[in-house]
Amino acid sequence: MDPIEKKPIFHYRPGARLLSLGTFGCNMDCLNCQNYNLARSKGEDLPCNDMRPEEVVQLAVEKCVQGIGWTFNEPIVWAEFILDTAKEANRKGLFSLLNTNGFIGDGAREELLRCTQVMNVDVKGFTEEFYKKNCNARLEPVLETCTVAKTLGVHVELTYLLIPGLNDSREVVRRFCEWVVDEMTADTPVHFFRFRPFYKLANLPAQTIEKLKEAYDIAKSVGVRFPYYAGVVGEDRQNTYCPKCGELLIKRASQEVTDKVCVKKTEVSRFCPTFSDVEIMLRDNACARCGEHIPVVSGQIRKCAR
Ligand code: SF4
Repeated sequence: MDPIEKKPIFHYRPGARLLSLGTFGCNMDCLNCQNYNLARSKGEDLPCNDMRPEEVVQLAVEKCVQGIGWTFNEPIVWAEFILDTAKEANRKGLFSLLNTNGFIGDGAREELLRCTQVMNVDVKGFTEEFYKKNCNARLEPVLETCTVAKTLGVHVELTYLLIPGLNDSREVVRRFCEWVVDEMTADTPVHFFRFRPFYKLANLPAQTIEKLKEAYDIAKSVGVRFPYYAGVVGEDRQNTYCPKCGELLIKRASQEVTDKVCVKKTEVSRFCPTFSDVEIMLRDNACARCGEHIPVVSGQIRKCAR
């Protein structure tokens, strides 16, 4: 059970709660994978629950959440199950959220996106060379997933993990931000995630807050209206401010997760903080001070029957 802010998703039903589900396997092979015990497993050695799509939806209803999040490992590798479950969830008024690397081909992409309401796509770098060396994958299909999702009306937010010396140069970050503004719109939230040494990149240092600030400033300078910090706790840049007058509009209280999700005693999503409190100060989706329109999907939060 997670707040939607943990995914991170900041502009879709702030304060909504999700049932988060994952399995094992991934179609990428990232050197820094924080969930490698799930992503690289074939599943034989992991404790699993067998569930049918309708049982998942029933569990979500019982837990009184507003949506189901497909996360931890890559949802694309179990897209068929997600399709069946998301359709049933949508019928019950629940949204479906993908936490994805976006690396999916034309045929399956559209079908999956048509029953997805919200997604966070990890853009892992902004060169084909980076994707080849660090993820054993390609950048171009990932970018296409983002633009197709936008065209289909899916709410999309982007995460960019800043890895020291590998994808965090000013020039690469600038080109990524320019692509966001040109191809996704300036209103697309961008979460700059702090790298921590892990797995096959355990030799690198943790990313500095100064580098996050540099990326944030570059994003602002090229026109991204809602850049954020991610993978950190207690930073002002996890709040939403009016891009016109600077008024505080959504306040988020982040904190370290103490109750970790563990698989075989190893934590998954270990660097993702959670959010205990979300305070919304928007007035009819506009800044209460200057009236600037703020694109946040508020939607009807489903009330629990119990
Ligand atoms: S896409 Fe995510 S789950 Fe897959 S290998 Fe990369 S970091 Fe791990």
